[in-house]
Amino acid sequence: MSGNVLLKDARIIRKDGSIEGPSDILVESGVIRAVVKAGAGVQVNPEAETIDCSGCFASPGLVNLHTHSPMTVFRGIAEDVSIEDWFNAKIWPYESRLTPADVRVGAMLAIYEMLDSGVTAFFDHYFFSREIVRAAEDAGIRADIAPTIFGAAPNWKDALRESVRLAEEVNGKNGRVRVRIGPHAPYTCPPDVLKTCVEEARNLGVGIHIHVSETAKQVEDSLKLYGKTPFKVLYDVGAMEVPCVFAHGIWITEDDLSLLNDRCFFAVAPKTYLKLAAGFGNLYRFMSKPASVRRIHVGAGTDGAASSNTLNPLEQARLFSLLGKHHMGDATCFDLNTTWGILMKGHEALGQNTGDVAPGFAADIVIWDLKQGNTVPVYDPLAAIVYSADGRNVRDVLVAGEFRKRGGKVIAIDLDEVMRDVELVKERLLREGGGQAVVRY
Ligand SMILES: [Zn+2]
Repeated sequence: MSGNVLLKDARIIRKDGSIEGPSDILVESGVIRAVVKAGAGVQVNPEAETIDCSGCFASPGLVNLHTHSPMTVFRGIAEDVSIEDWFNAKIWPYESRLTPADVRVGAMLAIYEMLDSGVTAFFDHYFFSREIVRAAEDAGIRADIAPTIFGAAPNWKDALRESVRLAEEVNGKNGRVRVRIGPHAPYTCPPDVLKTCVEEARNLGVGIHIHVSETAKQVEDSLKLYGKTPFKVLYDVGAMEVPCVFAHGIWITEDDLSLLNDRCFFAVAPKTYLKLAAGFGNLYRFMSKPASVRRIHVGAGTDGAASSNTLNPLEQARLFSLLGKHHMGDATCFDLNTTWGILMKGHEALGQNTGDVAPGFAADIVIWDLKQGNTVPVYDPLAAIVYSADGRNVRDVLVAGEFRKRGGKVIAIDLDEVMRDVELVKERLLREGGGQAVVRY
C-alpha cells in the first residue's frame, strides 16, 4: 500500500521555523502518524519502507500560492518590454493560439519544476483548466485550480458555468486537487460579473482567486471608473465573505486594510514586479505595522514563467524579504522566521490539513540535504534554506506520503517526453505568431 514510510533520523523544521530532533517520522496512508525521538522505536506497518534521513532536515512542502502553470511554454517569449506590451503585444495574442494539449504540456513542465524545487501544492489560474486538473492528478501533486474568467469576454457566462461544473466534479472526489472560482481581476471583470462569481463560489462552498491592485495605475483607474479601489470593489460585491487568494495586491491602500479578514491571503511574486517595474507598493509598509500584521496574510507565489521565468516560491520569498529590508532601510525586518512564515502561509489557504511535520498532518514533506557546496557550513538551517538553497538541496519530496522526487530526481514525470512536447509547441507558436486577443490591458 502506498503512503507508508518511515523517515529515519531527520531533524525537523516545524511550521513556525523551530528545529527539532533528530526524529523518526512514521507515515501511514499518507498521514503523519507519529514523530518520535530517533531510534526510540515505533510500531511500523510491515509494508512501510524505511528511508535514512540522517544529516538531513524534514520540513513541510512549499506552496506556490499563485501561478499560471501552462505559461512555461512562454518562458522567455516577452522580455524587457513594458507591462502594456507584455500583455497586449505578446502574451494575450500568443495565448489565443493555445490548445488544450498545449496547456497540458505546459502544466506538466511546470509541475516538474515545482516538484524539483520542493513544492507539494500549487494554486493555479488559467484556462483549459480541465487539462491542468488532469496533469496535477497524474503527477500526484496537490493543487487548487481556478479556471480564469474574463468578464470582458462575451462568453464569460459559459466560462463560469464550466468552472462550476469542474468544481462539482473535482471537489466531489475529495482528492489532492480542488477547484475554486477565478475571476481574472477587477479591471477585466465588471462588478456584476464579480458578484456573480462570488455567488457561485459561495454556493459551491469554495473561495475565489483573483489578481488585484498589482500596479499603482490599476488603483488609479479603478478610482476614476468606480470611485473605489479594486479591494473596495471586491468587498462591495461580497468577495471577502468567501475565502480569497489575492494575487499580488501590493498596491493595497491604508483604507483597504479594514476590509481584510483571516481568510484573505496575498500571493506575492516579487520577481515579476522587478521585471515589469511594478514598484514596491504599500504592502511592505503595512506588514511592518503591528496592528495590521494580523490581517495581512502573505504567502509566496511565482506568477507564470512568462514573467517570472522560474516557479520556485523559495526564490520569490527570498526576493520579497530582501526587497523588504532594502525598501524599509532596516536590515532587521523581514527576518528568517518571517520569510519561513511566508513560505508556509500557503498551507493555510489550501485547507487540506498540510503544513507541519507533526502527527495528524498530511505527509507533504521535503527532505533537505544541506550538506552541499552552496549551503555548508550550516550554522542555522533556516538561513541555509532561506538565503542559499535551491532545487539541488531538495533530496526528496513526498505528497501524501508518496515520493514525487526521490534521491534528487523527480520520479512523477518523464521530463524527456515533456521537453520534446514543449519544443513542438514553441516551434508552432513561432511559425503562427500571435493571434487576436479577446481583452486589452
Ligand atoms: Zn498572475
